[in-house]
Amino acid sequence: EPDAGLAPLEFTITRNLAAKSAAEREQLLVDPAFGTTFTDHMIDICWSVRGGWHRPRVQPYGPLSLDPAAAVLHYGQEIFEGIKAYRHADGSVWTFRPDQNGRRLQRSARRLALPELPVEYFIESLKALIAVDGAWVPSGADQSLYLRPFMFAKEAFLGVRPANKVGYYVIASPVGAYFKGGAKPVSIWLSEDYARAGKGGTGAAKTGGNYAASLLPQAEAYEQGCDQVVFLDQDRNVEELGGMNVVFVYKDGTIVTPQSDSILEGITRDSILQLAADRGHKIEGRAVSIDEWRSGVASGEIVEVFACGTAAVVAPIGVLKGRDFVDEQPLGPLAQSLRDELTDIQYGRREDTHGWLVRL
Ligand code: PMP
Repeated sequence: EPDAGLAPLEFTITRNLAAKSAAEREQLLVDPAFGTTFTDHMIDICWSVRGGWHRPRVQPYGPLSLDPAAAVLHYGQEIFEGIKAYRHADGSVWTFRPDQNGRRLQRSARRLALPELPVEYFIESLKALIAVDGAWVPSGADQSLYLRPFMFAKEAFLGVRPANKVGYYVIASPVGAYFKGGAKPVSIWLSEDYARAGKGGTGAAKTGGNYAASLLPQAEAYEQGCDQVVFLDQDRNVEELGGMNVVFVYKDGTIVTPQSDSILEGITRDSILQLAADRGHKIEGRAVSIDEWRSGVASGEIVEVFACGTAAVVAPIGVLKGRDFVDEQPLGPLAQSLRDELTDIQYGRREDTHGWLVRL
């Protein structure tokens, strides 16, 4: 809900005197590897119980100084978001449905007992960073500037309770196509020994602990020769991959995606399902058991399975591997055509009829 009485943030801007030259930046933007290069500045906003949100700053990108007793280092009270900035052909810079990421950050905050950043402040923080680092938004095919807002407990206190001092930051990293040479089908390892989330847990929140818990099963996936891992819930229903949602396409055109309280509600998935609904597909959010997946593929009832998320956009699933089976997955046209439609909107090549783009 927009808060009418909210004063806009007045950022104090400290320029990075060691900012990259235009030539150095252009060199870094040629073929950036995911999440390794960062722009010249970052956003830093403080929150305290007494002062609320205060001291909004744009400052040089660089190490944070943290008390070794900062609660985040001990109890993991942390949340984050992931959203991209896209350069259009006319040079303007846009982002995609930032209100949705802002609201998801609020839902994550609630679950982790962190303060809820007003959605207006979330969007202002992205605009403030692009105002100084806009030149870092690359213009090559499938390139973008990945924005990483995050918030954590910085109070120095070893008691287990919500921190009274919190920091909110935004950093940015130029990225290229996640899959070089188009969306290649990915292979998926079915994790039977490890869960990502449980009933009443933190699965629906974008919090570091969920990703920490996914690292060991992800390592198991690599050992099995797979790209990604898929998690089940306690009733053997499909949840999601480590960082992407799963979508099933049925023979009659119905599109089904797992609905549960313990998965992260992806904004890519929501958008792709809206595009599919516009095309006349029936959309169902419901539980999908691993048995329904495997028997649906075997019988031909399921004609396509794909994963989706901000980083990779859409990745067709080519193989599902478990302890005692390897199921080839059917490939179809829908993953690619929905991906093309979505990225055409994001990059300004197609009319944004849903009003999803926001200029930064
Ligand atoms: N599930 C998980 C666990 C994720 O980390 C992500 C990436 N944010 C997604 C799904 C996809 O969400 P989105 O489409 O909003 O990027």
